[in-house]
Amino acid sequence: MDNSILNSTLNEYFRKFPKIQLILQDEDVKKLIDKYSYNVVKAQLEEILSKEKEKIKINLRDNIILEDNFFKIKHFAFLLKDYFNNFSFSLKRVINGTGVVVHTNLGRSILPKTAVENVSKISSSYSNLEFNLEEGMRGKRYSHVEILLKRILNCETAIVVNNNAAAVFMALNTFAAGIKKEVIVSRGELVEIGGSFRIPDIMKASGAQLIEVGTTNKTKINDYEAKINENTTLLLKVHHSNFKMTGFVHEVNSKELVEIGEKYNIPVMEDLGSGSFIKFERFGLPKEPTAQEVINAGIDIVTFSGDKLLGGPQAGIIAGKKEYVDLIAKNPLNRAFRIDKMTLAALEAVLFEYLDINNAIKNIPTLRMLSQNILEIKKRGLKLLNKVKKLESAYKTMYIFTIIEDFSIVGGGAMPDYEMKTYCLSVTHKFFAAEKLSEIFRSLQIPIIGKIKDGKFLIDLRTVLDNDINDIIGNFIKVAQILS
Ligand SMILES: *Cc1c(COP(=O)(O)O)cnc(C)c1O
Repeated sequence: MDNSILNSTLNEYFRKFPKIQLILQDEDVKKLIDKYSYNVVKAQLEEILSKEKEKIKINLRDNIILEDNFFKIKHFAFLLKDYFNNFSFSLKRVINGTGVVVHTNLGRSILPKTAVENVSKISSSYSNLEFNLEEGMRGKRYSHVEILLKRILNCETAIVVNNNAAAVFMALNTFAAGIKKEVIVSRGELVEIGGSFRIPDIMKASGAQLIEVGTTNKTKINDYEAKINENTTLLLKVHHSNFKMTGFVHEVNSKELVEIGEKYNIPVMEDLGSGSFIKFERFGLPKEPTAQEVINAGIDIVTFSGDKLLGGPQAGIIAGKKEYVDLIAKNPLNRAFRIDKMTLAALEAVLFEYLDINNAIKNIPTLRMLSQNILEIKKRGLKLLNKVKKLESAYKTMYIFTIIEDFSIVGGGAMPDYEMKTYCLSVTHKFFAAEKLSEIFRSLQIPIIGKIKDGKFLIDLRTVLDNDINDIIGNFIKVAQILS
């Protein structure tokens, strides 16, 4: 078809479209308007109409004749209904079948029930966020968690900000911004955490002047001492988090760094990264320094995340000596990085669990998943297998389901390389490769994010919650319908 004929045919087709106002008066469309408002439905209809016009162009080019039904009001009403039926928010719940417990892309830690309830309560009413009830005047927003942090960590004081990156940034800015102020850090600790958090970049952006000491694999006490001068304002230690150094290595530990700091009267800061409150060795996991240990070693300022091994909401905790932490609190950046009330409500509830370590392990999902008994995981796997096996016969699909052994990892930049034994539901299909299955499971209403190993699509049961099981089954029914 040449272009002029094509254009005139197109216009002819477009003229056949029902008027927008008529479509909006359709009974089914009116129901949508009641639910989603006139403007929202009209805007969506306009988008649908322009998409349908595009479709007509393609069809014409391919010489496909369009049926008259295409131009009926009911056709567009159907498309609108279909759109709103499948409408959901962009940020949605997913099922974590990756086995990565603290998965940054999937939202890191999930909150315990008490925290969720507290967020709901505090955010749906007014609160004493910055109001001192005893004195009837302005109070501090940190006061609600400061008491708990002091009790758990045995520190002099603590504040909380938006996240750990902000905590590090603020601390560096407070002590080391400006000319002739130097921060000493080991070359072995100039780490990149991921998501473009690089210690040297953060230091530069904070205005601190970075003085590197030692080598990549070895840094000794006298490496620090050799660089200390009257401009040195801070000694910084950074936890490796997401990598491990082995072999011919040496680093100055927290206690030794504290001794150097005391000798030269310079504050010492440690960015702990994950910052756990419990000793993970008790579950047979590798040793991670706890926040208590670091405080106990005498570090002046300790910073760590709220949503990594701690298992709480996104937050950055700054704990330590009053004379230093108070200075950070006074930094105007604190206003920009301040923690919001919902996070604070969640954090207080999570910290409360830590007052009794057994409660924490039982109630905080991150801790529960990390300390889970392998037999419990297997049991959950067999329960799921049983249910999907029934589906297999009901839908006469082409699947093979089995339970296989595999390894989960901690994530969140903690305990790199360490693999925990786990069980996975393995899904294979007669015609579809694992990549295709993975794509299908991701596209479901409650997406399941799994992993692919040896050509199999795996759902790791360590990170699957008990109440995910029924939704997985619901998902499977949909997949079975798609694929059978
Ligand atoms: C994760 C991490 C950070 C960043 O913490 P966020 O809470 O993600 O801002 C900083 N330092 C270290 C060592 C980390 O592991």
